[in-house]
Amino acid sequence: MEVRMPGLIATWWSQGRRTVPTPSDASRLPEWFRGRPVLQPERCLPDCHACRDACPTDAVNTSPLRLDLGRCVACPECAAACPTGALTMSSDHRLATTRRDDLILDGGPARLAQAMESRTRRLLGRSLRLRQVSAGGCNGCESELATAGNVVWDMGRFGIQFVASPRHADGIVVTGPVSANMEQALRDTWEAVPAPRILIAVGACAISGGVFCGSPQCRDGVPADLPVDLYVPGCPPHPLTFLDGVLRLLDRLG
Ligand code: SF4
Ligand code: SF4
Repeated sequence: MEVRMPGLIATWWSQGRRTVPTPSDASRLPEWFRGRPVLQPERCLPDCHACRDACPTDAVNTSPLRLDLGRCVACPECAAACPTGALTMSSDHRLATTRRDDLILDGGPARLAQAMESRTRRLLGRSLRLRQVSAGGCNGCESELATAGNVVWDMGRFGIQFVASPRHADGIVVTGPVSANMEQALRDTWEAVPAPRILIAVGACAISGGVFCGSPQCRDGVPADLPVDLYVPGCPPHPLTFLDGVLRLLDRLG
């Protein structure tokens, strides 16, 4: 097929710039995107447990109202069941945290990921090489992580890359609930990464087991003795949620 250069240039020109700017604010995604749930406990009715009863992953507690983002799969049955609007969904993609406890929402200000210590950041320099470990999930998270490298989200512009070998990596990204068959492979991969190294848990499965929680065939996420540096919730998380968390960890979002 003949390729006409003027036609190609015209197409590129008409498409304009496709890459989104640095993902630092909350309004990057359309309104219908299901991002951060918004809790207003003061609007709860006494003895109402509709949201808790509707949640398929036991992410919601009532009296007082709490929502565990680490278990939430953004379905969003809780918001649909709530009779007063005490629990609604926003399109805010900024969900990643450095502490597991910070994933528990209570209606207070959002607690976002914090930068890791400056010595580690200095050692990493301007790049971050990550080995992805798919530990028994549905591949939805892996698909979104792959998307994070495309021309729209373009994590490569920040020096973030997935690499084939843990020997070449600064850390690992774990997806899936960690099935019994994958646990040793995950541990071996982690041990193969030279220190200092970071561990990122991506998706409800890797954080809590997600929809597989309680299955005898899985470990309900990254085993507790492995040190998680960043939790990226969602099912699957949006590429911007992943990028936002990693850039905060690297102190690259000013
Ligand atoms: S949106 Fe999350 S918290 Fe609400 S019902 Fe669905 S899984 Fe549960
Ligand atoms: S968190 Fe959701 S999308 Fe990711 S592996 Fe689990 S079920 Fe799939």
